[in-house]
Amino acid sequence: MPTAIYPGTFDPVTYGHIDIAVRASKIFKKVIAVVASNPGKNPLFTVEERVDMVSEALAHVPHIEVISYSGLIVDCVREYNATAIIRGLRAISDFDYEFQMAFTNRNLLDSAETVFLMPSSEYIYLNSTLVKQIAQHGAGSQVCTFVPEFVKEQLIKKLKKNR
Ligand code: ADP
Repeated sequence: MPTAIYPGTFDPVTYGHIDIAVRASKIFKKVIAVVASNPGKNPLFTVEERVDMVSEALAHVPHIEVISYSGLIVDCVREYNATAIIRGLRAISDFDYEFQMAFTNRNLLDSAETVFLMPSSEYIYLNSTLVKQIAQHGAGSQVCTFVPEFVKEQLIKKLKKNR
């Protein structure tokens, strides 16, 4: 299978994101993790910071590239000649939003096939918002079950700076 893009906000990257990237890299020849600038989501980290963290977190994953992108996902698919969009599916709560996204992307570009991958069961309830909430409430040192050590350090540093 050729190239797949793996878009997300990655604010910040978690073990759930990493799990999906590893699975995708076993199926596709090339995986491009696309860090969406997503100003609408009011991210805690800048897009450059997120790209740096995703690059470090995925450094061990073969044939993966990390880029940032501010346009439509389908334009990114076209630009990189990709054939698939990877999305992670956790609990049933992800379904409705992911369906909307997948069908909208297909309407915009018929060849854009969305491929859903499920993470390891230990990451099924893990998301970046939860990690940020835990860190914001002073339990930053405890997030290492959810994110790599260097992400934990960045989170603590960023939250201190924002105080
Ligand atoms: P977005 O804002 O596009 O949802 P996210 O960074 O929240 O960006 O997620 C990017 C992708 O990674 C999504 O497909 C999401 O479902 C997936 N993902 C995030 N956390 C997990 C997890 N714990 N398990 C599986 N997939 C996940």
